[in-house]
Amino acid sequence: MHSDPNCIFCKIAAGQIPARKVHEDDELIAFHDIAPWAPVHVLIVPKEHIGSMMEVTEAHEALLGRMMVLSVKLMRELGVTNGYRHVINTGADGGQEVPHLHLHAMGGPRPWNKG
Ligand code: 5GP
Ligand code: ZN
Repeated sequence: MHSDPNCIFCKIAAGQIPARKVHEDDELIAFHDIAPWAPVHVLIVPKEHIGSMMEVTEAHEALLGRMMVLSVKLMRELGVTNGYRHVINTGADGGQEVPHLHLHAMGGPRPWNKG
């Protein structure tokens, strides 16, 4: 599986940097965002180093579907019952800060810190 030794999310996926994990399987890892916008804010991350949505191809269709479905399961498990928000930031103009594909799932009672 492709990994980038300088990438923070690759390091989290490899267990080299700690994170508050809520899910891990062969392909995906999910953990709480370090600077949450909402009472519940998790990141769903493929273990493979995919830089952003701009690198996604048809070969990733199943993986992206798994990310979405996992996010819904996690929101339910984390007690989010009144709606939530999905965000994927892509590239510089998309406001992406960590160059490893990730899906934000945010929920919980408002007001939120951001978003
Ligand atoms: P982006 O702007 O790339 O879509 O979002 C990156 C997200 O990753 C931000 O919400 C930021 O708070 C989060 N983040 C950055 N570094 C770390 C880290 O080391 N650990 C965790 N848990 N989240 C991080
Ligand atoms: Zn990476």
